[in-house]
Amino acid sequence: MMDALKNLNPQQHEAVTSSARQLLVLAGPGSGKTRVLTQRIAFLVNENKVSPHSILAVTFTNKAAREMRTRLERMLGKGVNALWLGTFHAICARILRSEADALPFDNNFVIMDADDQQSIIKRVLKDLNIDDKLYRPASIHNVISNAKNAMQGPDQVKSRTYREEISKRVYEQYEKILRSSNAVDFDDLLMWSVRLFEENPQIREKYGQRFEHVLVDEFQDTNQAQYELLKHLSSVHHCLFVVGDEDQSIYRWRGADYRNVLRFQSDYPKSEKILLERNYRSTQNVLDAAQAVINQNKSRTPKNLYSKRGEGPLISLYDAVDDHAEAAYVVDDIVDRIASGQEGGEFAIMYRTNAQSRLLEEAFLRANIPYRLVGAQRFYGRREVKDIISFLRLVHNTYDSVSLARVINVPPRGVGSKTLLDLDQIAQNNNLTSSDVLLSLGELGQKSPFWDTFSSRSASMLAHFGSLLMNWREFGQSNPLPDLFDRILADIGYKAYIDDGTEMGDGRWENVLELRRLAYEYEERGITEFLENIALVSDQDTVPEENDAPTLLTLHAAKGLEFSHVYIVGLDEGLLPHSRSLEDPEEMAEERRLFYVGITRAKNHLTLVRAGQRSNYGRFEYTMESRFIDDIPEELIKREGVRLGVQRLTPLSHPRWEPSSYERSTPKKETPKESRYQAGMRVTHSTWGSGLVVETRILGNDETVTVMFESVGLKRLAASVARLEIV
Ligand code: ATP
Ligand code: MG
Repeated sequence: MMDALKNLNPQQHEAVTSSARQLLVLAGPGSGKTRVLTQRIAFLVNENKVSPHSILAVTFTNKAAREMRTRLERMLGKGVNALWLGTFHAICARILRSEADALPFDNNFVIMDADDQQSIIKRVLKDLNIDDKLYRPASIHNVISNAKNAMQGPDQVKSRTYREEISKRVYEQYEKILRSSNAVDFDDLLMWSVRLFEENPQIREKYGQRFEHVLVDEFQDTNQAQYELLKHLSSVHHCLFVVGDEDQSIYRWRGADYRNVLRFQSDYPKSEKILLERNYRSTQNVLDAAQAVINQNKSRTPKNLYSKRGEGPLISLYDAVDDHAEAAYVVDDIVDRIASGQEGGEFAIMYRTNAQSRLLEEAFLRANIPYRLVGAQRFYGRREVKDIISFLRLVHNTYDSVSLARVINVPPRGVGSKTLLDLDQIAQNNNLTSSDVLLSLGELGQKSPFWDTFSSRSASMLAHFGSLLMNWREFGQSNPLPDLFDRILADIGYKAYIDDGTEMGDGRWENVLELRRLAYEYEERGITEFLENIALVSDQDTVPEENDAPTLLTLHAAKGLEFSHVYIVGLDEGLLPHSRSLEDPEEMAEERRLFYVGITRAKNHLTLVRAGQRSNYGRFEYTMESRFIDDIPEELIKREGVRLGVQRLTPLSHPRWEPSSYERSTPKKETPKESRYQAGMRVTHSTWGSGLVVETRILGNDETVTVMFESVGLKRLAASVARLEIV
């Protein structure tokens, strides 16, 4: 028997070694589902002599895939390389690239991220003359995404109302732009893979033959397209091993449907089911609290979770005066615990919405404690990083119209939006793409048939860009990625453009260098993989490998992870549960599952925090304690004293943050004098350029304005000093 098998309990052992063709492992958090899945792969290879080449394993995040790969490397050695192991998106991208001949795009297609998708939708709304305030790009994007997850093209979308009709029309145009850009979005990766298999039996057969075993983690969060994909991939050998927990289904908004668990059982009537009950992760108090919370949900299979790890400390509950005090409490508490010998990496702070990280980040910066923020925004969302990626994407695939629009005037070369529109129009009139026209201008100059269709000033500027693009393409064919990277930077004088000698400029240049370091890692593998991996970095993915600092992350991103001490903040009605869920019992049940996922990440200690009032666009609003706290039996809770007004934080020493008038807030009762700025306004600042006002507050005689700048991110400024201009 393999050594590793000795450490399994009987149910786990049965799951790992089962000879059932279809097996469903349903079990609560921390019961070893992921571990069982990993060991089963090792068992199949080492004991049953299945070739790793014939195994496909699907994880929910890239991080989970990496962890699993590392573990399997130890058990399988080199064999691990032949294994297909990754997220649904990564696996689909790989399939689509290999089978591009059967698809309406080339195999060097780019993957549009959420930002790109929004910008396409905005463009379409503009083209169709639709007001984007009435029809929010985000909500249209939602409609499109749901349609794709349900495998519906534009013509299958219902148009019973005017609103639906608009969404349908936008969807149509959106698809056209994707196709002409040789691009796909995230949902397409799945949708096209399923279509590919439906329409090409011989391709389905090929993959079906290959994958003797298909294994899936976090099965409760599969959506319809993913479920169908799994069926196709296992359509020859029918060996499916899936693990999941219906109580942890938290991606309903992405089309996940935990009824897939039932569907699995009815689609495979001979499937076997194994339940695991022992929890290896958490102390009993944490489990009891989690259980009490989830028991409030109706229509679920009751489960009993037990742990042999002892009771552990009670659940701490801290009731802060306001949101600033909430953040300060958490950071203070962590400072104390680190001082008494705990490692920073043992802590995680979880919240419902991304925006909640800001005050926590500020508090960490003030305390001079390094922290890790999970979220793609941090690096890949930065302007300079996106610029360079767009240049590379464009060189790789000149049809990428989103990237073209982004960089054609970077650094400014006098190509305004008017010229860009003309370019687009002329291309369309000639049944070409903008890049075709550009390349023609670049190559032929005044001899190009398009030269005269522009003013001579525009023509020569476009020709200049076109020739750069042409040269980079040529250069890229015969030179490694890092050289291409440097060549582009040099040709456009990018350093001089972004690095204005200020600290901010330095920071931007550092980001470019960071990206360049990444490009070096792809020297061998090349630009396609480089771009693909960047595109696939999703929020869940940037959990750092070295765990030396506290981690800040959303509850959604916490799936599958574990930490010694977990803080969940914002336990107020309207935040957790989120205001959107208050009217809808299904949504409410999902919020509860989300909270449950958060609680069950804790190995030893759980701290819940709430704030009596929160600033909301410049005003304080009183909050009510989350109903979820009532669900936890009082005897499991230790209420930590309300530390009214106490703040013990080291002075601000981090350079990136403006010294803000950080009031310990006893609520401001006096009527503030009128503010000049308002949340939602666009403003410009002499150094940082344009940004969006996020929040304003009257403090003393001055107005404090928090602005999200495109260049440097969030800044809190005193209005009298900053002299922001309203645009
Ligand atoms: P989640 O639902 O949160 O994803 P899970 O069911 O996948 O949880 P795992 O992450 O596989 O649970 O396991 C939780 C923890 O328990 C891990 O640290 C794992 O190594 C440990 N563990 C699982 N089974 C055993 C076992 N038989 N002996 C010792 N430790 C175990
Ligand atoms: Mg797991």
